[in-house]
Amino acid sequence: MADYDRDDPRFKKLLADIMPIVDEIKRLNAEAVARGEFPDDRGMLECLKCGLMEDVAINNKHLVYFKHSDDHADTGLRFVATDDPAVFHCPNCNTKVYDPDRMEN
Ligand SMILES: [Zn+2]
Repeated sequence: MADYDRDDPRFKKLLADIMPIVDEIKRLNAEAVARGEFPDDRGMLECLKCGLMEDVAINNKHLVYFKHSDDHADTGLRFVATDDPAVFHCPNCNTKVYDPDRMEN
């Protein structure tokens, strides 16, 4: 990781320029989630114990269904966030599920 001098005025200017954009992205993401779309700030979750998994429909709607279900209809269940942004709980069996986008190799 690069070393930044946080007291460098160029760094402070860059941060000041970026933060409104970051806030706008967060706001747009929250709006999308409110419309029933997948939150784009993490990977799609899958419970390895019971097979509950997330998917995105062609209309961009967030779906959560059992991997082996016939119709892949949305169950209405949603994985539950924890204090650790990389860890969720399965709403069906309460197993810990890890965000694949935050797992280290
Ligand atoms: Zn589960």
